[in-house]
Amino acid sequence: MKNKLQFTVLKTRWNARIWEINLNGIKVQTPIFMPVGTKATIKGMILDLLQDEKYIWQHIESIKVILANTFHLYLRPWSQLIKQAGWLHKFENWNDGLILTDSWGFQVFSLGLSKLDSQWHSHKVNIKLTEDGVKFSSPWDGSKHVFTPENVVDTQIDFWSDIMMVLDVCSPGAEKKEIVNRQMQMTHRRAQRAFDHFLPKYDEARWVLFPIVQGGSYLDLRQESVDFLSQFARDGIAIGWVSVGEDKEKVQEVVAFTAPKLPKDKPRYLMWVGTPEDLRFAIEQGIDMFDCVSATRYGRHGVVFSDEGNMKISNAKYSSDFSPLTPNCDCYACTHFSKAYFHHLHREKEVLGGVLIGLHNIVYLNRILSEWKREMMG
Ligand SMILES: [Zn+2]
Repeated sequence: MKNKLQFTVLKTRWNARIWEINLNGIKVQTPIFMPVGTKATIKGMILDLLQDEKYIWQHIESIKVILANTFHLYLRPWSQLIKQAGWLHKFENWNDGLILTDSWGFQVFSLGLSKLDSQWHSHKVNIKLTEDGVKFSSPWDGSKHVFTPENVVDTQIDFWSDIMMVLDVCSPGAEKKEIVNRQMQMTHRRAQRAFDHFLPKYDEARWVLFPIVQGGSYLDLRQESVDFLSQFARDGIAIGWVSVGEDKEKVQEVVAFTAPKLPKDKPRYLMWVGTPEDLRFAIEQGIDMFDCVSATRYGRHGVVFSDEGNMKISNAKYSSDFSPLTPNCDCYACTHFSKAYFHHLHREKEVLGGVLIGLHNIVYLNRILSEWKREMMG
């Protein structure tokens, strides 16, 4: 069977590589950072701007791929409503880019942990992992639902997602090996079922499906997961669950061990990792795709990515500092406003400040990748 995602190697150096990926008529040069639009919006951002060099950037690549979340959008506004709207690209006005949809393995875990935090209103969330899938109740109205490896694929197709993820089981970092192993085996059975469902039904169409390597921080389990799931890496493969509940050294150990073992001729996606230092480390291990909410979430909290580390705009020393957020950045935030202005917006809790700092952070991560690519390409 034919690969739907075309990849051309542009450059390699040790484990690191630059690819050109072509999917559904859109060309992407990896490594890429993919901003997270969980609920069909990157909070406060007009998505067009992410591709408009007049407003956003001139010296780095524009954003080509963004994320959305299957679990959130399935419940609200409802996957069928998005389908009726003309699918997700049209619904959120992201017509010239690709959409990657996460399954909801991670949400199961985070809901299980937090039960009912501030963003989950109205109803207590009940979650039960079974061999068939995940039974859960809606935090919005208490209604009962089941996600299976099969219907999670169908739901992502309802969104018209370009890159889809299989339903997996996330294991907390500090979990005992026996439990992580059991959850990894379940992840493998779910990947098998997802592809058994996907291949005969959707394989000739535009969609691609990535399996997710699990195994927690146990390297032998990661190896086993790579060995099993590589058979499904037809268009790409992801490394799941390295970033939450893990210390940085452990994360790096898992990434450095796992990434080079993944099939060399397929895109490799490291999930939920996206701070400047993480990116710098992981591209050298051969990772091609990243996503993380930190760029925009930090932005909303007034935290600015910079070469000197994370900068808190609330600091009093910025109240009359009329220089840009960071020197040599040509994002809209840095070319039009000063630190003093952002300090003021932050203090007044004005939405624009958080949105524009989030934008700067996205550009900052993209600049790291762009500069690295330029250096690699010589
Ligand atoms: Zn900037």
